Amino acid sequence: PVRVRFAPSPTGPLHIGGVRTALFNYLFAKKNGGAFYLRIEDTDQNRFVPGAEEYIMEALEWLGIAPEETVGKNEKFGPYRQSERKHLYKQYADMLIESGNAYYAFDTAESLDAHRKQHEEEGKTFIYNHHNREKLDTSLVISAAETEKRIANNEDYVIRFKTPVEETLHLQDIIRGEVQFQTGLLDDKVLFKSDGMPTYHLANIVDDHLMETTHVIRGEEWLPSMPLHVMLYRAFGWDAPQFAHLPLILKPIGNGKLSKRDGDKMGFPVFPLEWKTEEGVSSGYREKGFFPETVINFLALLGWNDGTEKELFSLEELTAAFDLKRVHKSGAKFDPEKNKWFNHQYLLKQDNPILADTFAPILIEKGIDISKFDLTRIVSLIKDRAHFVSEFWEMSDFFFVAPTTYDEKASKNWKEETPALMQELISVVEEITDFTSMNIETIVKDWMTKNEIGMGKVMQPFRLSLVGALKGPHLFDIVEVIGKEETISRIQKAIA
Ligand code: GLU
Repeated sequence: PVRVRFAPSPTGPLHIGGVRTALFNYLFAKKNGGAFYLRIEDTDQNRFVPGAEEYIMEALEWLGIAPEETVGKNEKFGPYRQSERKHLYKQYADMLIESGNAYYAFDTAESLDAHRKQHEEEGKTFIYNHHNREKLDTSLVISAAETEKRIANNEDYVIRFKTPVEETLHLQDIIRGEVQFQTGLLDDKVLFKSDGMPTYHLANIVDDHLMETTHVIRGEEWLPSMPLHVMLYRAFGWDAPQFAHLPLILKPIGNGKLSKRDGDKMGFPVFPLEWKTEEGVSSGYREKGFFPETVINFLALLGWNDGTEKELFSLEELTAAFDLKRVHKSGAKFDPEKNKWFNHQYLLKQDNPILADTFAPILIEKGIDISKFDLTRIVSLIKDRAHFVSEFWEMSDFFFVAPTTYDEKASKNWKEETPALMQELISVVEEITDFTSMNIETIVKDWMTKNEIGMGKVMQPFRLSLVGALKGPHLFDIVEVIGKEETISRIQKAIA
């Protein structure tokens, strides 16, 4: 059975690219009737950030793609936090030493720097592998007895992978097809350190194996690690999972990877949820008023489509349509304007009572007594033009409070004869008994036709009186909602 994982390191808020990785894993698992689990890769204690793990869980839950197994939830392959699995990794490093696939190295940071510098001066890059091994301070050079003595003496060491000398690896990636690597160009990566902690590479492979991971779906930035990972599986004698490396998410303008700076510059979030630190607040999609459905939808289309022009997908539709083979190799441009369009689409789909509930706290904050208003109706009249609920107030304030100023640009429609006309309009409105939009419209228009009054002469001053500007939904809907008394009082105020 398919088992996939999302394996973030809790080093800060989850970037939107990480969320896409989680989403594609989720979709692949659901599509194939498999399991999606979350593993916290926190072996690097220096980079640990408090709150990051909770943030990741909250973000996935908000988006509706929570893992089935993780810390504190269905822990059948637990623990799911690598820091709690510390005791497990040393034996695997030892196994690799015994089988001759790894070795101890005692190089100090200074001596490595010196090697690097010397290479630089000679115009070469320093690769820590068979090119240099004889000159390095490793158990490949010193005797076994000496090695043991130095370990017993508590000298700092690392365990490194012994990369095969010169071999061409032909590896398969579900998205990229065959990818080739020359082992001679790879460093002997550190797998384990004398502080008792594994590095990412060792812990990741051991856990993917122990947790029976069948597919590794992750960002393109991990493609260079793939040869080491495959060689590790081979060294352990384990079957490797299949790999799929997702394309980069690119800046909206220009080239290169999407970064937080792009978001800051152009005013869009790169995080699903807000993230607060002492240095400040980074905005999140949730707090900006995006629906989780919107975020899911636009992330799914970053590097994938179903082969048609279809753009709107619910999570269920995505699950049904998703196919790793249709994921693109090339980078996907992030489009913040399009994302707003997506939010508009989901706003239109929301039930009006739900939108009204979301709008209510904003109104209460403005001091509006919401019990006096039919919010569901008001929302239904304005949502067509909104991208976010946060825009509702500006689009609808006139339903709740009479205008105190009148838009100057529109006042040129206010002519000398206007007050008299408006006075007549008041008498017409006063007589209407069935006070519904359609009926009001019919009666007012009949009056205009009968008296040969031009549309513009009445409609614009009428709207200006009620709204204070030439904006808002259908005028007669506004008239119905604010009611006869309020309509008349607003016209009186405007002509006073
Ligand atoms: N811990 C790695 C990360 O932070 C996981 C990479 C992988 O999926 O193998 O992204």
